[in-house]
Amino acid sequence: MIHGIDQSVGSPVALAGLGIYARIAMNDDVKIIWIADRLIESFGAPTVQPLDPIENLVLTILSQNTNDVNRDRAFESLMRQFGTLEKVREASQRDIASAIQIGGLQQQKSRSIREALDRIMNARGRLDLAFLEDLPLEDALSWLLALPGVGPKTAGIVLLFSFGRPVFPVDTHIRRVMIRMGLVPERGDPHPRLNRILPADSTLMQQLHLLAIRLGREVCHPRKPECERCPLRSECVWTQDHGSTSEDEVTSSIDKGGIHQ
Ligand code: SF4
Repeated sequence: MIHGIDQSVGSPVALAGLGIYARIAMNDDVKIIWIADRLIESFGAPTVQPLDPIENLVLTILSQNTNDVNRDRAFESLMRQFGTLEKVREASQRDIASAIQIGGLQQQKSRSIREALDRIMNARGRLDLAFLEDLPLEDALSWLLALPGVGPKTAGIVLLFSFGRPVFPVDTHIRRVMIRMGLVPERGDPHPRLNRILPADSTLMQQLHLLAIRLGREVCHPRKPECERCPLRSECVWTQDHGSTSEDEVTSSIDKGGIHQ
């Protein structure tokens, strides 16, 4: 029992006096904590280092539609060319695009980075987001969402990992896992639903975010998920409906509408 959740909840239990077995379904708010606990038990609790908010913002914009390696290469290339994010803000969009080319979508990302840095500078007089720490959570979220290229995932990553504020960001891997676990529908933005059922516990959110991504990458693949070795299998709606063999039409419909910002 890790987060105060009885691990036996959701197991087949004998109904007293009836002599039959019945399945007691978990409520969604219990299930999501069970998921976090199972992932921590399986993978171990990840270490989380606070990230500089502006760097985190730029890195997350760079991560859209690419992998971590190319995101980091694009950021390193940006810093190698300009030295500081202040200099990036003063650079032309064309030069920024050229520096981050390795991460793909360089025109769109360079425009977002340049305009976001400009807006922060114009609003605050310097590249500093520390004021977000003292704003009510909804206001901090709205402020970030008003920046170009910033959606709920990017805003959530900045608030959760740079300020330890309890907002849960959802990427394409987390979305796929949560759909298959039956916690969010296949269509629509999963952020409101997952943020409603999760407790306002930033440590839990950070761990669940990192470990659900790991599960999505290593086990719960878009095609051919390896359900037989998945720690969430006993409560997974998808594997109960489909078995461990993937069906392309199901996975491809899940992958449509992935979260990129
Ligand atoms: S049991 Fe299979 S479909 Fe369900 S979360 Fe695990 S890997 Fe994904």
